[in-house]
Amino acid sequence: MTVLTRRCATAATVEPDLAGMVAGVAADGDRALARYLRQEVGAHSPYYRRRLGDAGEAGWPRSLDDLSRLPLLSLDGIDDPACFVLRPDWTSIDRSGDPRLAARVAMSRLGGRQQRRSRRLVDHRYKPLHWTLEAGVPVGSSAADLERLGRLGARWLALAGVRPTDVLVGFAPPGPNLAFWQLVLGARGAGVSAVHLPPPPAAHEVATLRPTVLAGRPFDLARLLTAARTEGHPLPAVRTLLALGGPLEEGVRAKLSRLLDSPADAAVVAAWAPPGVRALWSECRPGAGAGEMPRPGLHAWPEAEVLEVIDPLSGAPAPPGADGEVVWTALGWSGTVFVRLRTGVFAMIDAGPCPACRRRGPRLSVVSETPAFLSALDRHPAVTGWQAELRTVGGREELLVFVSLAPPAPAGRVLRELDGQLSATQYVVVDGPTLDARMAAHGDRRVVDLRRR
Ligand SMILES: [Zn+2]
Repeated sequence: MTVLTRRCATAATVEPDLAGMVAGVAADGDRALARYLRQEVGAHSPYYRRRLGDAGEAGWPRSLDDLSRLPLLSLDGIDDPACFVLRPDWTSIDRSGDPRLAARVAMSRLGGRQQRRSRRLVDHRYKPLHWTLEAGVPVGSSAADLERLGRLGARWLALAGVRPTDVLVGFAPPGPNLAFWQLVLGARGAGVSAVHLPPPPAAHEVATLRPTVLAGRPFDLARLLTAARTEGHPLPAVRTLLALGGPLEEGVRAKLSRLLDSPADAAVVAAWAPPGVRALWSECRPGAGAGEMPRPGLHAWPEAEVLEVIDPLSGAPAPPGADGEVVWTALGWSGTVFVRLRTGVFAMIDAGPCPACRRRGPRLSVVSETPAFLSALDRHPAVTGWQAELRTVGGREELLVFVSLAPPAPAGRVLRELDGQLSATQYVVVDGPTLDARMAAHGDRRVVDLRRR
C-alpha cells in the first residue's frame, strides 16, 4: 500500500445543485396506470388499498395528477417489505381484480382440472418466487415478472446494439441484484451466447472466450482491458462495452473507449437503475457520426414504469423541462410493487423522440453526482479505479482518495501527477480487490460523503 499525505482541507461539495428543480413527465397513459392501480395494486394489497382509497375526493387515482397526490415512499423508510407484495386470493380477484382473470377463476369453481389450471395461472402471474435485494429491501418477482424482465433485457441489448451473433462475457457481480439477472435473462431472451464470470475476471480467461461484448461495472471493465493489454491477452473482437452499476461519467467513458482496440464502430453503452426500479434504464448505441453529438440520455420503459420529477424539498411536481428528483412507480409488475418511490436520482426527462435512435418515449438526463474536480482521476491513463472519501476531522474537511493503478505504473510518479491537479488530503494506493471491497461496502459509490454523519 502506498500512501501520499498532505495536510490541507478540501471544501468542495458533492451535493447536487438543488436549485431550479422541476417537471413531471408521465411515461405511460393515464388509462394503463389507473387500470393497474385499481385491478392489481389496490385489489391485491391491503396496504395500498388503504392508501389509494385515501387519494382524495375522486377516490381511486385515474391519472398522473391523481398519482401525484399519493404519499412518497423511500426504501430506507420501509419497515415491513411484505406489505408491498401483491397477495391475490379468489375473493380479491373476483371482487376487483383483472376481469379476464376473474372469469377464469369463476370457471375454477367447477373444480377439478379447471381449478388446478386457475391456481397455476395465478401463481405464475403473482407468486413471488425470485428475490433481489434493493438497498437491503427484498423485492420479489413472479414467474411472469421474470419473463417480462427477460423481454425488457432483450430489448435493452438490442438498444445497445448487441446482436444475436455476438458473444457476451458478463462479469456483473452475481447475486440478488437486478443488473446481473437482467443481463442473464436478457441474453437468453435475445438469443445471445453468453458466459457469466464473477468479477474481476482474469484477462487470459476472457481472451480464450473470444468475446465481442463485455458487460460489467466500469472499473471492472477498465481493469480487464488494462490487464488484457499489459499481460498480452488482447481482445481485438470486442465492439461493445456494457457499463453497469451506476451513472457513467464521461471521463470513465472516454477512458474505456481508449482502452478498446477494436473496430471503429465500437461503443460504450451504459445501463443502470436505482434500487427498487424493476428494469435497468439504458442508453442506446450511438450511430455512425454521433461522436460530437450530446448523449441522448437513458431510455426508460414506458410500458413498465411511470416517472415523475419533483422538487426534492417540497415534493411538488417540477416544471416541464427542468430537472429534479425522479420518483418511480411500477406499471404492470407483480411481486413487490412500489408506488411513488423516491429514487435519489436527479435528472431531467425528455419525452420527445431520441435524437440518436429516433425511438419515442422518456429519456433521463441524469445530473452527475461526481464533482468536476475529481475528473482528473478519470483522465489519468494509469488509474484503473478510484473512490474518494470526504470527511470532517477536528472541524476540518478532508478528502481521501483511494486509487488502483495499472500494474507497471510507478505509484510515486502517478500520485505526484494527480497531486498537481487535485487537492487531496491523502492518496492511498490499493489493489483491485481492496478497492472492490470498498466500493461494495459503500453501495458502489465513487464519492463517499461521511460529513453527513
Ligand atoms: Zn436513443
